Amino acid sequence: MTATYGAATVFDELPSGLLIGSDWVSGSSGGSYEHVYPASGRRNATIEIAGEVEIDRAVKSAWEAHGEWIAYTPERRRDLLFDLADAVKADVDRLARLNVHDFGVPIMMSAGHIGLAEKFIRYYAGYVDKAHGSSTPVSNKFDVNLIEREPYGVVGIIAPWNGPMVVVGLNVAPALAAGNAVVLKPSELSPFTSLRFGELCLEVGLPPGLVNVLPSGPEGGAALVRHRGISKIHFTGGGDTAKKIIAEAAANLTPVATELGGKSANIVFADADLDAAAKLSAFQGPLGQAGQSCACGSRILVQDSVYDAFIEKFLAVVQSVKIGEPFDPSVVVGPVVSQVAADRILETIDRASTEEMGELIAGGKRLGGDLADGFFIEPTVFTDVDNHSPLARIETFGPVVSIMRFTDEAQAVGIANDTVFGLNAYIQTNDLTRAHRVARQLEAGSVWVNRNSDISPQSPYGGYKQSGTGRAGGLEGLHEFQQVKNIRIGMS
Ligand code: NAD
Repeated sequence: MTATYGAATVFDELPSGLLIGSDWVSGSSGGSYEHVYPASGRRNATIEIAGEVEIDRAVKSAWEAHGEWIAYTPERRRDLLFDLADAVKADVDRLARLNVHDFGVPIMMSAGHIGLAEKFIRYYAGYVDKAHGSSTPVSNKFDVNLIEREPYGVVGIIAPWNGPMVVVGLNVAPALAAGNAVVLKPSELSPFTSLRFGELCLEVGLPPGLVNVLPSGPEGGAALVRHRGISKIHFTGGGDTAKKIIAEAAANLTPVATELGGKSANIVFADADLDAAAKLSAFQGPLGQAGQSCACGSRILVQDSVYDAFIEKFLAVVQSVKIGEPFDPSVVVGPVVSQVAADRILETIDRASTEEMGELIAGGKRLGGDLADGFFIEPTVFTDVDNHSPLARIETFGPVVSIMRFTDEAQAVGIANDTVFGLNAYIQTNDLTRAHRVARQLEAGSVWVNRNSDISPQSPYGGYKQSGTGRAGGLEGLHEFQQVKNIRIGMS
């Protein structure tokens, strides 16, 4: 097992196996997977991978738990979810360490993921005994016409590797609050925090099977999607995978909600506070999670008159941060998740340079020296990028940003919207009227003005266009996990 920066190894912190009901299951039909720690390139742990047999067992266990869960009073369900939020909070140090093991996110940012999960669980716990239906008048004025919201039953939640605890907060929490049981399928690339979260669910006294945790790759995911016992799939990941999942789910007409990728525009107007804009653009761009975030502002649009000044300030921020071992508390940028990801990102950089999609002004290489065995890529900046080039079109999911020039507001909006994606958009301006006007015109599920993407439980988060159909957060996030029933009682 990998030596880590003064931290315990994975299985000092966690039972091994898949979590089904209250059992930690090994000898899985899906086999095992050698998890690699991205910062060292070495084996971190051998994990169980769920196959068809384990998925089937988990779905059955979830249905049993669902029956028990909805038989509880709302107050009891509410209090158990508050207990769960408390347990996540109390376990923040361990969960944060496991999150670093998971995908190499720097420890400096890791606790933020856990805090986000806790906030969402607490927020949705508060809904359990307050989310009520309604009644409306109908043509026969004496009839009773009720509109009720019911859980789906058992939902399959499929998570990407880049934020397993974020998915716990955004999706598992509202699913449970709505009365569902969950089969959670984290990626085999980042299984650890989800397994510990499942253990915490048992420790606080949720019915065994209410949250089952089955890491796997595409095969386990596909088995979950096609299982007839799954009432709804909630998928977070890439668009190509979403197409396969929707096609697979069509066999049973299982509903699917999707939260997908982005190629978000970050528009810097000449009247912005340039120092603040440069800092925000760097952290929301190539630095935060090494650009491996759905919210990455990977297309930075800068107004002509401040183009050069902005680039100078932006580069100063990008080049000032420490890159390295994620357990080092002073490190800001960690590795990318895998050798495959590193190869893909370096190939994108190479192609963008040779085919002159823009001018490479910083980064572009894999780091050597002490970091040579890990998957570290320099924060990489291209300027004067053509918005129609693949560099500006395709989600790179790495520490790579494109800077583009615009002259006026209309042109900025045109470039920002000229993409198949529509997840986030960022506006840097001190003109409040402009901020409102531009925000209304941007085709994105979230628009952030003079701030980073601070996903909060009160706000629905999700995409326009090919960035997905689902919403997480707010009442909209709860509604994703409820189906609507109308009951009409004749009174004639
Ligand atoms: P991915 O699409 O490769 O995988 C996502 C999950 O789907 C994994 O658990 C994977 O094992 C599973 N999977 C793969 N093939 C499957 C199949 N055929 N059937 C069922 N499941 C299958 O994505 P990734 O590389 O893990 O994550 C990165 C992507 O996720 C990026 O595009 C990123 O933008 C997106 N993302 C979106 C949000 C959001 O809220 N919109 C949040 C985080 C990540």
